[in-house]
Amino acid sequence: MGGVAMLKLARQTSSETISSRALAVGVASVMVPAGTLLRSRTPTCRRADQTVASHRASEPALARSVRQLEPGACGRLPVLVYHHVGPRRDGTHRSLTVSPAAFERHVRWLARTGFEALSSADVIDWRRLGRPLPRRAFVLTFDDGYADLARFAFPVLRRYGFGAIVFLVSGRLGGTNAWDEVAGSGTHRLLSANQVREWAAKGIEFGAHGRTHADLTDRSTDLAEEVERSATDLEGLLGYRTRSFAYPWGAVDEAALQEVARSFDLAFTVRPGLNTIWTDPHLLRRAMVQPGDTLLDLRFRLLTGSNLLDRVRGAIRVRTRIRAVHRSLGRQRSHAR
Ligand SMILES: [Zn+2]
Repeated sequence: MGGVAMLKLARQTSSETISSRALAVGVASVMVPAGTLLRSRTPTCRRADQTVASHRASEPALARSVRQLEPGACGRLPVLVYHHVGPRRDGTHRSLTVSPAAFERHVRWLARTGFEALSSADVIDWRRLGRPLPRRAFVLTFDDGYADLARFAFPVLRRYGFGAIVFLVSGRLGGTNAWDEVAGSGTHRLLSANQVREWAAKGIEFGAHGRTHADLTDRSTDLAEEVERSATDLEGLLGYRTRSFAYPWGAVDEAALQEVARSFDLAFTVRPGLNTIWTDPHLLRRAMVQPGDTLLDLRFRLLTGSNLLDRVRGAIRVRTRIRAVHRSLGRQRSHAR
């Protein structure tokens, strides 16, 4: 492994996108191997003999020539992340809540446009075997495992034939989002063990999101307890090892990455962008879907892994504020005359 580079991982820039705890954290310091960063930033099939990144002891790094890769394996894979889907209630996570109507609009559009949702096993086969991606491949993920998903999201996904990966806080099943409650935000119920078993049997995939949603870059966090125990919790519940992990708060450093790689094949950040076969499988990027996302926003997120419109809207908001200040200054001057 090459030298270690420090990377300031900017969380989603809009304050609307950040949970209150993440706001307190601001940006997370992320330590990743320099070579990994270079590989994730050069997503191309033009360069020969690249190494597919791997931190799994059971999976030695895979050197592949582009001549051995079918063009379809060189595609870019967007990953969407939703949080809560359900009605907005007072005191609850407005910024992370997508209404049931908006969610169904998104899913209907994805189905009509021909998108195919990949499972963790599909992503692993793509990386390890160089299996071509479907033309409109994407991964649909949900963080935290809110109970409302069973009512407002899973039935819609079933109706349109989509799978999804839902990341559970394994020590809180059937409880509430205690990690947000301590930060003063509202309460949501989480999926129960029975609901997880029921929906796993109906084709929803589950992954881990820690045992208590602790920040894995916090020195006081017991990494083995949060990561390996979350894997064994879910294995006990489902009867098989789950393949994927999502970093709570999106926070990851080298120690967290190594711990996660011991127990999971794939791990997802909240860093925006698209993934290629060269992207580190334990630093996969995701685009966060916002409550107000139109189909155009969704299209941008799938095409680029982020959303240009967010920046345009931010700039418009700043301009509007500046104009309001100018107007009020003008009024003050005319009063002073
Ligand atoms: Zn979370």
